[in-house]
Amino acid sequence: MDKHQAENRIKELKAVLSENSRKYYVDNAPTMSDYDYDHLVYELAGLEKQFPEFVTSDSPTQKVGSDLEPAGMKKEFTQYFHRYPMLSLGNTYNIREVEEFAERAGKALGVKFTYCCELKFDGTAICLTYRHGKLFRALTRGDGRIGDDVTANVKHIENIPVELKGSGYPDEFEIRGEILMPYSAFDRLNAERLENEDTPFANPRNAASGSLKLLDSNEVGNRGLYCTLYHIPGDNVSFETHDEALKAAASWGLPVSGERRICHDISEIEEYLNYWDIHRKFLPYPTDGIVIKINEFAYQKVLGYTAKFPRWAVAYKFKAEKALTKLISIDYQVGRTGAVTPVANLDPVQLSGTVVKRATLNNAGQMDLLDIHTDDYVYVEKGGEIIPKITGVELSKRTPGAPRPSFPVVCPDCGTALVKEEGEAKYFCPNTEGCPTQIKGRLLHFLSRKAMNVIAGEATVDRLYDLDFVKTPADFYDLTMPNLLMLDGWKEKAAQRFLYSLQGSRNVPFERVFFALGIRYVGESTAKEITRYFGDIDSVMAASEEDLSEVADVGNVIAASVYEYFSDSRHIEEITRLKAAGLKFSTKEKSVTVSDVLAGKTIVISGNFTVSRDEIKSLIEMNGGKNSTSVSGKTSYLLTGTRPGPEKLKKASEIGIPVIGENEFRSMLPDGGVLPRQETGSVNVTGESDPTLF
Ligand code: NAD
Repeated sequence: MDKHQAENRIKELKAVLSENSRKYYVDNAPTMSDYDYDHLVYELAGLEKQFPEFVTSDSPTQKVGSDLEPAGMKKEFTQYFHRYPMLSLGNTYNIREVEEFAERAGKALGVKFTYCCELKFDGTAICLTYRHGKLFRALTRGDGRIGDDVTANVKHIENIPVELKGSGYPDEFEIRGEILMPYSAFDRLNAERLENEDTPFANPRNAASGSLKLLDSNEVGNRGLYCTLYHIPGDNVSFETHDEALKAAASWGLPVSGERRICHDISEIEEYLNYWDIHRKFLPYPTDGIVIKINEFAYQKVLGYTAKFPRWAVAYKFKAEKALTKLISIDYQVGRTGAVTPVANLDPVQLSGTVVKRATLNNAGQMDLLDIHTDDYVYVEKGGEIIPKITGVELSKRTPGAPRPSFPVVCPDCGTALVKEEGEAKYFCPNTEGCPTQIKGRLLHFLSRKAMNVIAGEATVDRLYDLDFVKTPADFYDLTMPNLLMLDGWKEKAAQRFLYSLQGSRNVPFERVFFALGIRYVGESTAKEITRYFGDIDSVMAASEEDLSEVADVGNVIAASVYEYFSDSRHIEEITRLKAAGLKFSTKEKSVTVSDVLAGKTIVISGNFTVSRDEIKSLIEMNGGKNSTSVSGKTSYLLTGTRPGPEKLKKASEIGIPVIGENEFRSMLPDGGVLPRQETGSVNVTGESDPTLF
């Protein structure tokens, strides 16, 4: 690879990694497996080693992933600097690299030392500060330097003591650990979410981290979270070893796991790794590996830290669990970008706590690589993602003479001959403007929560399309009440809700409108970068490929895709219509309001509502009101749902602020402030709303 190619590949890798890092840490909804993510980081690190001139301090190889809201977004929590940075851990899936870690430490120290091996708990990191024996503050890892203050929430986690017992603890000290969600609590939470038509969490780690950042502290108490602590940083504790420090912490009533072992050499470490690779399956909470730490504090100091992790510890990660099951059939699904994804229907099988019936085969190349035959027995794995994948075939169980399934040559939906572009692993249906599945997929993407947030399900979009009312996103804004009343079962109220919600979408900021357009490879964070860089749509449309690749995280492939999109006159016409419909196409445009009935009113919301808190906030703004997070003399109303925060209620009653419920609030608004409820839609197993380059 030459220097120019390397620079581009580095840009592309950074864009994909930063998009996935945000999905993982901020949204708590990863779509890529940890294994695949780590592989891309490994590729990036290799290129950066070869071309050090392209290493930047914001590279994912140089900093810890951040769970803080991205710059420019509203901060829901007070933030504080960490006294000692909260770093990540060097990690490996390979025993040989653990041996190398031990060899490096041995060489650097040149003396006898011990290792403390512990479970690597798979949750979200927390830093607790105890002052005068009382819980003073709890911070998330944040970006490693600054964390979110989640003290109020942590006080609702049952096994975290607000007061220490025993004696001998320093007057002030920090202790770090993990907030976990046990499998039983995870299953219960996801069952509830499915019942309420909310998206289930992908895994217990995401559920724990999402729950810790809930705005309603009482609700945190209902989530069944659990804490385990494993590290006391700093110099104000007088222990010689990590193990002694943890024993003392346990004697002060802090939740410290007893599952650790002092090892003296690599063979003892390997024995421990092998034991837990099997026995972790019987633990009631998730773990994803073993952490091997140098036990003596003095030697930890000698080895020190890199910018991203301690040199005195390494994490050995377990490979994802596998299950063997029979392949029943293969469906070929067309996504909104035209990519055709083979999806296997399987004999249902239990895997990491859930029953798997379908798994992705990714693309034709992957099917060839796996050498899949009809009726094969296949291995299924789940990584960090919700969609399991097929990773291998059990050849000993193959039916003799079973044929290989043939990948379709034409689009299963519109019959157009499929194409495969150079460098692409996937087959595409090129009939972008005529293939109904692609068009409907794009319309659904346009309305989706992270795009225009007009909550309508697949059934509504299908019907609007079939009735010839909507063929492109701009058509939504031409819909009338009589059109909507032609939808099965829709009465005036439902139609009004939909129109009202469309009206609200005119407030969606430019970056999300740009994401909503569904340009190939433009995910949420790329959309954000492009819109911030250019400021308005006319400048993006006038940009050359070269101009586009000036944007952070935009490499050749993305630049070409955006350029090509705006070279199509149909897209220019669509943008003109969307502009005329009043959507925001500049970062400077002001919010649209539907009424001013709340003008001059400042409202604080607390508790759970019949719709999401974001929708309630948007209703307040659309009707001229202002949102605020804390109750003060300037608050006009405290708007409460179920389980409101007791602190807010107390303060409102002390200052005499009127407390209103959701119904009373809605009755103040035109049309009762109705927004549509979400329809149940099927999950698109291709995960195409998240375009990646791979
Ligand atoms: P990590 O999971 O690699 O390891 C570090 C963390 O382990 C620490 O911060 C700590 O919270 C935790 N930990 C658990 N038990 C511990 C113990 N006994 N001692 C010390 N620490 C312990 O953490 P990370 O830096 O948060 O994340 C990097 C990983 O996240 C990557 O390796 C990747 O697999 C994953 N990731 C995945 C995606 C995705 O899209 N799937 C995106 C971003 C990151």
